Amino acid sequence: MIPHPTEEQFLAGHVTPDESREWLESVESEFEHAFQTLGGMRLGVSVFGSARVAPEHPRYALGVEVGRRIAEAGFPVITGGGPGLMQAANKGAHGRDVPSVGLTIELPREEQANPYATTVVPFEHFFVRKTVFVRYSCAFVTLPGGFGTLDELFEALTLIQTGKLQNFPVILIGTEFWSGVVEWLRDALLADGKISPRDLDLITVTDDLDEMIRIIEACVECHTPPSSAL
Ligand code: AMP
Repeated sequence: MIPHPTEEQFLAGHVTPDESREWLESVESEFEHAFQTLGGMRLGVSVFGSARVAPEHPRYALGVEVGRRIAEAGFPVITGGGPGLMQAANKGAHGRDVPSVGLTIELPREEQANPYATTVVPFEHFFVRKTVFVRYSCAFVTLPGGFGTLDELFEALTLIQTGKLQNFPVILIGTEFWSGVVEWLRDALLADGKISPRDLDLITVTDDLDEMIRIIEACVECHTPPSSAL
């Protein structure tokens, strides 16, 4: 790989014009590597959720079940490749007929991809990775999580709201966890005119995994075959 400044150096503005160009090349090569590794994979379902859930926690079992159901319905399962609910979803998809994908991110504390992600694409740049999640997915399923999960959720909602992304369900699993967030969206953002009533319709909150699969399958019918596989 071409030597280039780290993400931290670039974001802090500690770069010369030449280093900025090297950084740009690293962005391009990261995209290229993802395209090569994921190839013609289509209609994946990205599953997001907390990195901090232990395998003993009931939510981990829910994550495994979510991954299993999506994989059994024939959709590749794409996660951040890390621990917690990412690992759970990859575990549910592991050993089935679809790829169990981990889009890992290089973080200051070194972490390996979880052992259930069998197709792993490493990233240094968060924004490149976020684009790749969307590019290879036809739906986002979001389990309970923290800042990382909310970032991924609101990225998708913004793309849909602004018309950059169409026919793209966003399903929040866990009514107890998510009801407070949805209430806040309604009582603060909608009431204050910051979003429209139809923006709230972009989200489905459910505990019902049959409903999750029905929504994904219904939406897939809207997707046209690719004209080319990058
Ligand atoms: P959080 O909800 O803050 O625990 O962050 C989880 C989300 O952010 C996941 O869906 C990942 O895409 C990303 N993320 C956070 N930590 C990691 C990690 N250690 N490895 C991979 N992805 C991570």
